Formats: sequence, C-alpha cells, structure tokens
Amino acid sequence: MYKKITAALLSICTCSIAIAQSTTPTTILDGWDVLMKNCEKRNPNFKADLQVLNEQIAKKAAAYMQTNAANKTTAVKEVPIVFHIVLTQSKINQLGGATGIAERVQSQIDVLNKDFNAANADSSLIPAAFKPLYGNMGIKFSLAHKAPNGSYSPGYEIVTTTKSGFDIQSGTTGTGQFCSDAKFTSSGGADAWDTKKYINVWITDITPMGVGGVGTPPPYAIYGGTTQFPWNEQGIVISYMAFGKRTNGSQFFPLQAAIAGRTLVHEMGHYFNLFHPFGMSTMDNKTCTDDDGVSDTPLESGPTQSICPSFPLLDTCTKTFPGVMYMNHMDYSADTCRTMFSTGQVARVSIELAGGGFRDQLTSDPGLIYWWPSSVNNVAVNNEVAIYPNPATNSCTINCNDNTARSIEFINNLGQVVYTITPVANETIVHADLSNLAKGVYVIKCTFNNTITTTKLLHY
Ligand SMILES: [Zn+2]
Repeated sequence: MYKKITAALLSICTCSIAIAQSTTPTTILDGWDVLMKNCEKRNPNFKADLQVLNEQIAKKAAAYMQTNAANKTTAVKEVPIVFHIVLTQSKINQLGGATGIAERVQSQIDVLNKDFNAANADSSLIPAAFKPLYGNMGIKFSLAHKAPNGSYSPGYEIVTTTKSGFDIQSGTTGTGQFCSDAKFTSSGGADAWDTKKYINVWITDITPMGVGGVGTPPPYAIYGGTTQFPWNEQGIVISYMAFGKRTNGSQFFPLQAAIAGRTLVHEMGHYFNLFHPFGMSTMDNKTCTDDDGVSDTPLESGPTQSICPSFPLLDTCTKTFPGVMYMNHMDYSADTCRTMFSTGQVARVSIELAGGGFRDQLTSDPGLIYWWPSSVNNVAVNNEVAIYPNPATNSCTINCNDNTARSIEFINNLGQVVYTITPVANETIVHADLSNLAKGVYVIKCTFNNTITTTKLLHY
C-alpha cells in the first residue's frame, strides 16, 4: 500500500511542525516516529521507560502463551467493529455510494480476518526461513449489529459531512490531534461507540493529503495515557482512499497503491500496541539500538520503504541470513509484499486482549455482534421451551417441558429452515449440535401435537 505513500503514512502524528512542512506525500514523516519523538520530548527517560514497559509486556506475553499452550486454549477471539464513514457527498459518490461502501466494508473485513487469522493466500510468498514464525493472531473482526442505543446496525454508518477533510494535527474538539474532529458529531464527524467494547474505525478524508491512516495505541502512561489518548478518541482513522480491497485504485491519487486493504491491518497492529520492526525511529535506526519489543522480528536499521525487495534483505542491524522481516505487516514494504505477523507479535497483542489488557472488554459482549435483525424481531416468541445455554456456541439443549415435539426447526433471519431435529418418542430434552450452523440469530420453532412454540437462540 505504501509505495510513495509510505513516507506519508502517519500512524500517529503529533508533530505539527513536521506536518506543516510536509505538503507532498514523499516528505511527510511517519506519525509513529513523530509520536515517539514527542514522547521523548515530554519524558527524557522515555526510551528507558519504554524498554521497561516492553520487558514487562514480553514477560506477560511469554507467561500467557505458555498457559495457553498448556491449556490448549486457542479459541478465536471475536471482536465487534464499527465503521463510521464520514465524507462529503461527492466522496461518498466516489466510493460508489451506499452500495460501493457496503462492498468496501465487506472487503475490508475480509482482509482483516484473513491477515489476523493466518489465512491470507499470499502467505505462500513467506520465505521458508520465516514460515515457522508465521503467527496467527486468532482475532475475528465482526461487524457490530447492535448500536449503543440498542437498535440494529449493519455495522457501519454513513455520515454526510460538509467538511472536506479532517486534519491530523489540529481540531476544534477533543485533543485536536489524530483527526479528533472526525470523532465527534459536534464537529462534523461521528461520535465513537463505546471504545472499550467496540473497535471504532473512521473512514474519512485525512489532511494533509497522503496520510493513509492514524491508529491510537492503548493509553499506556508512557505514551501520555488518557490525556494523549482519551477513551472517546480511541480507534483508527483510515483515509477513504485506502479503504477496503479493490483491483484498481487509480482515481485515488496519491494513495492509489493502497488497494489491498492493508492500511487498516497495519494501523490495527498499532491499536494493539505493536511497533514497527525497526523500533521507535522511523527514519534511522543505524545504531541498531531501537527495537519493537518482540524477540522474533529481527533488528532493522530502518523501514523497508515502499518496495518489495528480493529475499533475503540484509542490513546493518541484521547482516546474516535470513535478514530483516520486510514482509511483516508492521514494516513499510509494498502492500503486496506484507504477508505476516510473527508469533512474537501475536503474544504481544494477546496481552492487550487478555484480562487486564487495554483491549480486554472487546470480547465481553457477543450480543453487540449477533443482534436480532428486524426480520427476527417481528416473529412472535412465546419462550415456552427452555434453551440453554443461550447464547450458545457449539451446542445447546432444548427442554420441551415434558412434551415430545414432532419437530424442532431452526429458522434463520431470512425465514429459512436450516436445521430440523425430529425427536424420538418420549424424548423431551433434545441436544442440538450447532457446529454446522452459521453464527447468528435463530428462531427455534417446536411443533407439538396441538401447539407451536417459538424461542430465539443466539448462536455465536
Ligand atoms: Zn506504522
């Protein structure tokens, strides 16, 4: 995605001077680098403090992975995500209107879910020497179907704004940085949904031109805590030009190369507290003293900028085979070249999602994902049979109150019967295997001799 944009990509930007000077994509600094420099300015001991934090995280991550391996707990963590598309009408039209945006949303979700579940087809390009380090984040991003007010949502909202763009370095609401104006309805944007429970992604026109995305890291104290990164601004802003996957990005200069949907993959990494493999410094790690706190990503002297080099790529920090991991999602190589997270990065991210981590509440409420669509809401439900557990994952039990049903039908939100159980004589408690059913909401219709009961089941 980056090509020339790479230099322009601001993961986070707090440096007004650097940005003000950067009116063309090739000279805009990377925001993460700027953030790091700002942190250093605020705290002379920042580098040392960061090292301490990284060591703490590494220890926690190692312990967590050990426990997980021992317990064989490799369940996928499902998290609700909402897209706030905040654009002028002409830019909405540029994306193909409501239909085009729906397609972009779906393609973006697909890219995230492939890259965060070690399921991307181009993983075949990972060199054999790095293949054992190909990490599976085990995070499933699902569109949030329950809005904060309790109503049904498709998982995205389209907000037509009169603002032509939202600036990375200035704003009238919130912190005035990281496009904060896009994050508040009062300043022409869209208010965040509870950022502890939903991943909020704003799709908008980011200024200055050429910025691909802006992701907030978890509010660790050393970054400035909730002063720099307040909860109501937590999330990711992505340029509408880099949103979703498509085959042709030619109309989206200067982000025309950002066509694979991996801008958000990279920013999502920052959101879960991943660093670039070259450490704190974007432009120069020639002394090889910066690191990302992850043991299996080789030291790198600086970003692999916008290209797809031949393997192996050796540099001053990693002089021997297999060289630097330029194909890592957190490097800056071309979109088509970035194919993997490492197992060490998986461990680091797992700390944020585990209990006590900054992202731990994202998995707390599956009801935010599997909300009742209106087609199901309209079905009368008398709840005369008990279903437990409900919500259910792999299986559930249906207790027909001492009666034997003639049939038990599972009806999806399109009104289709997708699964039927026929109990045998005197079978009043029925176990249902849900493993072949798509996740979602079902009406369970039990037909008895003279009556029919209907009950809702949430399968997630
Ligand atoms: Zn970055």
